[in-house]
Amino acid sequence: MSYIVLARKYRPQNFAEVYAQDHVTKILQSAIASGRIAHAYLFSGPRGVGKTSLARIMAKSLNCEQGPTTQPCNKCTNCVEITSGVSPDVIEIDGASNTGVDDIRELQRELLYAASGAKYKIYIIDEVHMLSKNAFNALLKTLEEPPENVIFIFATTEPHKVLPTIISRCQRYDFKRIPVDAIVARLRDLCEQEGIKMDDESMYLIARKADGGLRDALSLMDQTISYCAEDISIEQVRQIFGMIPNQVYHDFMQMIKAHDSQNLIIELHNIFEEGTDLQEFIGNMLEYLRVVLLSKLGIKIKDISPDEMPLFEEVAQSFSQNDLLYIMSQLMQTKTDIRLSNNPYLLIEAMMIKLSRLDEINEISELIASLKSTGFSPGMMAAPMPGKSADTPTGIRHGDKASPLADKAADSSTAKAPLRHSKTHEQPEIKKLELSEDALRQNWDALASRIKKISKVAGLAFQNAELINLSANAMNLKLKTQTDIGMLKNNLERIEEILEDVFGQPLHINLELEQGEAPTKVDIVRKTIDDLKKENPELASFIDETEARLV
Ligand SMILES: [Zn+2]
Repeated sequence: MSYIVLARKYRPQNFAEVYAQDHVTKILQSAIASGRIAHAYLFSGPRGVGKTSLARIMAKSLNCEQGPTTQPCNKCTNCVEITSGVSPDVIEIDGASNTGVDDIRELQRELLYAASGAKYKIYIIDEVHMLSKNAFNALLKTLEEPPENVIFIFATTEPHKVLPTIISRCQRYDFKRIPVDAIVARLRDLCEQEGIKMDDESMYLIARKADGGLRDALSLMDQTISYCAEDISIEQVRQIFGMIPNQVYHDFMQMIKAHDSQNLIIELHNIFEEGTDLQEFIGNMLEYLRVVLLSKLGIKIKDISPDEMPLFEEVAQSFSQNDLLYIMSQLMQTKTDIRLSNNPYLLIEAMMIKLSRLDEINEISELIASLKSTGFSPGMMAAPMPGKSADTPTGIRHGDKASPLADKAADSSTAKAPLRHSKTHEQPEIKKLELSEDALRQNWDALASRIKKISKVAGLAFQNAELINLSANAMNLKLKTQTDIGMLKNNLERIEEILEDVFGQPLHINLELEQGEAPTKVDIVRKTIDDLKKENPELASFIDETEARLV
């Protein structure tokens, strides 16, 4: 089969073929139909969504021998020349490679010559934000007094970098990222036209990887076809792009749920051995969990082929929302940490083991927090539990006359008793506190565990926070990671409600990130005396002579 470049073959040649940008094409068509042509247009939006294609279609619509028309013939000399990029009247400039003021001056000089035969002289400047500031200013002068019949069409992926004075002189059109399901629909059409067999999962994978750009999707398609010819399967596509199947992440999550750290590590080593990029591995797992979380929230996701949805829904059902958030926060942290680490494998292993003990960590930290909140010291651990007192083997409590009424009173008092170890994790009581740093510090963990009732992760973040100081109406906290800050911010109102309840007055929380670098990790190298001797021969002879020993 001859090699086809889909991205070129299917480049849109008229308004109708510009895909999924109807909000732009409709307005432009009606402007052309009614002869309201502006001097300058700005097309902004992500790469590969049709900005420069539409600029060329505009040029053809205006300069077609039958134009201005909303349906350029694509046959006349002007149209054909524009399509193949050789029209003397349609000049395409790449802002990325022509950024100097000289280039714009040359352009200004050239503007003195009128359009040769054609109706308009059209300048298409791609990636216009890349022009230097001086070039921008030169361009601005041209835009202030544009020569008759000259039209500028600027395209940019970063409109915020274009000078406001330029933008204000342009008609601006924002192109949209193309949704995954829309790209899939387009790929399906193309496959049919080209006689290519491709499964849904492959199309979804390519569409997701293209990240909203149809041109990228078509280039990825081209790559796939060059490897697999007309019959494309998901296994091949994954191999070509080095993608880890969602099934793998699904399995990881099931092993985390089952606390199966042994198989988790074995599976992880398989991934390592395949030479998978670790950043990508974690990044993809985060992407996977994003869909899991959305499905947990009941949000319909169009990025995933319906066949694959069970891989996400199953996991969504077996984890709580907070646990998912916690796992994601651990992944994000690890993703950052492995960049600086010289042993990223170890960090990922440690994280996975930690995740496989998720319930345990939560339960222990909650138990400790609830114990501390009541002033219960570890030494009291040996003391009998309320309600199971050794001196009331019959179940009759102190002062209890065994009357039903007394029983009730006793029950209600145990409900407020210092130590509770119930499975329902009732809210630990904190007495009303006076507003002081001491009181706050002493009851820190109790507060944290109360915050955990609204959000486990926020509670953990609070627990790890450091109190900088306390004023009459605010507490200032220092946090180690941006993730921790985010977790607290998301629940700030409710946390402040808790504080108000405890301190009897409104209290704001201010959060700041711990400045400077994370504590330097010192590699503890245990040197033996032989190492030292090898390193330094003089030292070696000294050691030998004195029979020195390493302390
Ligand atoms: Zn034409």
